[in-house]
Amino acid sequence: MADPYGFLKHSRQEAKKRPVTDRAADWDEVYLDLGPEARDEQVRTQAARCMDCGVPFCHSGSAGCPLGNLIPEWNELVRRGDWELASDRLHATNNFPEFTGRLCPAPCEAACVLSISHDAGGPVAIKRVEQAIADVSWEQGLVRPTRAHVSSGRKVAVVGSGPAGLAAAQQLTRAGHEVTVFERDDRLGGLLRYGIPEFKMEKKVLDRRLAQLRNEGTRFVTSCEVGVDVTVEQLRERFDAVVLAVGALRGRDDRTTPGRDLDGVHLAMDHLVPANRACEGDGPPAIDAAGKHVVVIGGGDTGADCYGTAVRQGAASVVQLDQYPMPPAKRDDERSPWPVWPWILRTYPAHEEAGERRFAVAVEEFVGDEAGHVRQIKLRKVRVERDASGRRVVVPVSEEAELLPADLVLLAIGFEGVEHMPLLDGLGIRLTERGTVSCGSDWQTQAPGVFVCGDAHRGASLVVWAIAEGRSVANAVDAHLTGSSDLPSPVIPN
Ligand code: SF4
Repeated sequence: MADPYGFLKHSRQEAKKRPVTDRAADWDEVYLDLGPEARDEQVRTQAARCMDCGVPFCHSGSAGCPLGNLIPEWNELVRRGDWELASDRLHATNNFPEFTGRLCPAPCEAACVLSISHDAGGPVAIKRVEQAIADVSWEQGLVRPTRAHVSSGRKVAVVGSGPAGLAAAQQLTRAGHEVTVFERDDRLGGLLRYGIPEFKMEKKVLDRRLAQLRNEGTRFVTSCEVGVDVTVEQLRERFDAVVLAVGALRGRDDRTTPGRDLDGVHLAMDHLVPANRACEGDGPPAIDAAGKHVVVIGGGDTGADCYGTAVRQGAASVVQLDQYPMPPAKRDDERSPWPVWPWILRTYPAHEEAGERRFAVAVEEFVGDEAGHVRQIKLRKVRVERDASGRRVVVPVSEEAELLPADLVLLAIGFEGVEHMPLLDGLGIRLTERGTVSCGSDWQTQAPGVFVCGDAHRGASLVVWAIAEGRSVANAVDAHLTGSSDLPSPVIPN
């Protein structure tokens, strides 16, 4: 049984990072490899902070883990040192805990009862425990192919090999269906491959999981755009069901700010994809921050990825801009009884490496040289308000504009939904106002036998939601093909 006073005996300890000078000079993951013994001992202490709450808010519900991860259960198993059973319980709800352990911002920690009060020392380091269980599972050979016992004789096409597509494919393959994953890129993984930098998750972590899927029987076809290289008619003829897991990669642009068309102003993904390709050995990136004054516009995850990438490429300077004011570094209202963990300042490891973050500022103009290349940004201090109709408006608060050097500007201001693709036209699927693909309560789109999951359905979101939707769509497809399904379905369509 968990120690209900464990959190009073042990303080929360974040995972240690490598020294800035080391990690900013390479592309390896930023966290220090402590070696198995020290890691296991530290993580067992962190797991011992869990109280095994009667109502574990971390585990599910509107604020907790979308996968319904059995967090108190595996915290207790780790505290006792039973890594094998902890691995079993973790994999019972999460196909890819090594991805979420590295990439998820951990809504479970925000929901943890211990995050209510600073006196409690902050939430259980759930993400750290999760990653350790996943890493131990691989080190000790506990992750093995799980092959289906019987074949259903039914064929499923999964379009897209990001986390949602891979989760759906693994679940459906294990249920006995013949699954083929189509990927338009030359390598598998979608955003995990070409969107997430190596310093957040090394690609060998993805590759070993892909090998497991292959060994279980999932088939993969790369460099194949369904709707073009495979026609919609061929898709319909060859497969009994189709899962769309095509992501939501249409980047939000800023077409209203003067100077947007200058050379050197790019969408974030135009920077990240070639940078990740370069790490895969595809040659120098088309957009390189080396020696440049880089300005990243947008304060979220993608902006931080551009920031860390620019640092490693050798930028002369890096500045990240955010229209919103800087959130407090820690809870400042002691009277509030409610959790504040998610609303404090989120600092990414990249921000410790170099550069500067500026808050409550907005770009007024991209200023170019005679050759038409951006050289400066005109900035003004702003306040974000709601107008009478509830729309967000940005109000300038300083009279003087400021000029910032900028040879490379990266727009990381969000995503607007699914990219245009012939496949959707061919299937007769129209996008919602949010640019996503809608579906019924059974995840089926307007096209019969065609299902959707992940960012394509939800809009750009967290890796944990992609996996949760992939698992749920697998349940729906399995039921569609066989009449019922025992596969788990942790979430419902939004
Ligand atoms: Fe443990 Fe926090 Fe979950 Fe409670 S809410 S069971 S303390 S991780």
